[in-house]
Amino acid sequence: MNKNMKTIETEDKYCIPFFKKTQISIERGDGIYVFDENEKQYIDLTSGWGVTCIGHANPVITDALIEQSKKIIQNPESGKTYSPSRAKLLQLLSTVLPHSLNKVFFTNSGAEANDAVIKLARKVSGKKNVISTINSFHGRTISTASATGQSSHRDKYSPLMPNYLFVPYNDIEEVKKIIKNDVAAVIVEPIQGEGGIIVPSDDYLVNLSRICNENDVFLILDEVQTGFLRTGTFFCSSPFDIKADFMTMAKGLAGGFPFGAFAVSEKVAQKIEIGDHGGTYCGNPLGCAVSYAVIKFLISNNVEENVKEISKMTFDYLHKIQKEFPELIADIRGKGLLIALELANDKITSSIQKNCLDNGLLINVTHGNIIRLFPALTITKEEMNKSLVILKTSIAKHSKNDA
Ligand code: PLP
Repeated sequence: MNKNMKTIETEDKYCIPFFKKTQISIERGDGIYVFDENEKQYIDLTSGWGVTCIGHANPVITDALIEQSKKIIQNPESGKTYSPSRAKLLQLLSTVLPHSLNKVFFTNSGAEANDAVIKLARKVSGKKNVISTINSFHGRTISTASATGQSSHRDKYSPLMPNYLFVPYNDIEEVKKIIKNDVAAVIVEPIQGEGGIIVPSDDYLVNLSRICNENDVFLILDEVQTGFLRTGTFFCSSPFDIKADFMTMAKGLAGGFPFGAFAVSEKVAQKIEIGDHGGTYCGNPLGCAVSYAVIKFLISNNVEENVKEISKMTFDYLHKIQKEFPELIADIRGKGLLIALELANDKITSSIQKNCLDNGLLINVTHGNIIRLFPALTITKEEMNKSLVILKTSIAKHSKNDA
């Protein structure tokens, strides 16, 4: 008997169908593996959309959840009272954040963090316009959808929030043309993730930061997808000499627990007043305890080194496959363990995805023809190799005539 069916039927009956769903019902996870209700095992190369950075059911997370939930999960008066769990996390975060971003507030998601910083950038600067980039993704609330540079995620919700201007990504000259004294902020992803893993040139963020500073415009770095070692450094922007005023975080921040954050510069912090922002669950002790455990794990287990090693072997492997199937694989790009494999067309991609699924590998597809590989950062060489072999076998089922 297929035990998944009852769940699938119930969800299909009662859940609003926003997703075209994969017909499996996942009951549990363990590291990079997940298991459906029939105990069929799959490798999860999506890590829940870049979230479960230290694997599924990592005891570090479950222990933190149990210990903290036995103490308290929500403070009296929410953020109006102090929490040792929150203070511990703030202290630890301060060791990984850029020194210039020294004040932090917590949210429940990435969109909520972006929403908050856009609000605050306007309030603090007294200016209205926000520059975003074409093909970007910043969230699904009405303001972050309005800030998103993909019409498919935005235009059907009109009227949109006003005062967003869009420039091509990785194009400084276009920013220069429109950056004027009515611009509050520029919001940018260090790598466009949902947009298909578009990596800008090495000097892009530095130049953007310089132009923002010259024009007295805030720079908002959206590190929701790229943060917490996803691209090999703590933040994707860490290696660059950048002066940002806001940074937003979520996903890897708490390894699967819904949690987000934003950090602001001293210049911004000085102009923030009581009541400018808040939220019922912001900085709840449970989320803080989990996030602390995840960040501590990332630091103390040298996950950075693992990301670099696995990234190199993955890119080497993919480039080899590309040589074998040049007609099928259009491009390979990315950084760390945020990797895109762009295929010749949507049809091949969906067939590869299905074949991988049949063979126990879950992969994410974005824009129809881009396979986005973003596994847990703790994946081992053997596990990655096993996944890549399944992927290659699925690609090899197609011929150049399919391209
Ligand atoms: N910003 C970026 C760069 C993202 O990739 C995402 C989600 O994929 C978001 C914001 C929205 O985050 P959330 O889904 O947690 O609201």
